[in-house]
Amino acid sequence: MSNSIFQDIIDKKIPAEIIYEDDLVLAFNDISPQAPIHILVIPKKPITKLSTSDDGDQELLGHLLLVVKKITADKNILDYRVTINNGAEAGQTVFHLHLHILAGRTFGWPPG
Ligand code: AMP
Repeated sequence: MSNSIFQDIIDKKIPAEIIYEDDLVLAFNDISPQAPIHILVIPKKPITKLSTSDDGDQELLGHLLLVVKKITADKNILDYRVTINNGAEAGQTVFHLHLHILAGRTFGWPPG
């Protein structure tokens, strides 16, 4: 079991602005948006970070990206950035795998 804040959102113990939900994943607005659109897509399975996923997660990991595609298509978001921070040094603060969808402004490269 994960004891992260995202597990509490999955369990509906704390509220979130839910954008999309199915049996495998949940998507909701980031509480501290870094762009006009900032959505998090998470697996319901408590995977701590991408590097702790395994071969058995292949379908789930692919599904996460297809959900990104579905959400952006449904919202007519044409240009967007998808980010996964893996580990504290990469900027991960919540240790439950999540994909950031960021859109609505121009992004620089390389990221900070
Ligand atoms: P990361 O730094 O990649 O681990 O991203 C964690 C993200 O979770 C940050 O963008 C936070 O703003 C976001 N976050 C933390 N708590 C919540 C919450 N209760 N609801 C929505 N987003 C959250």
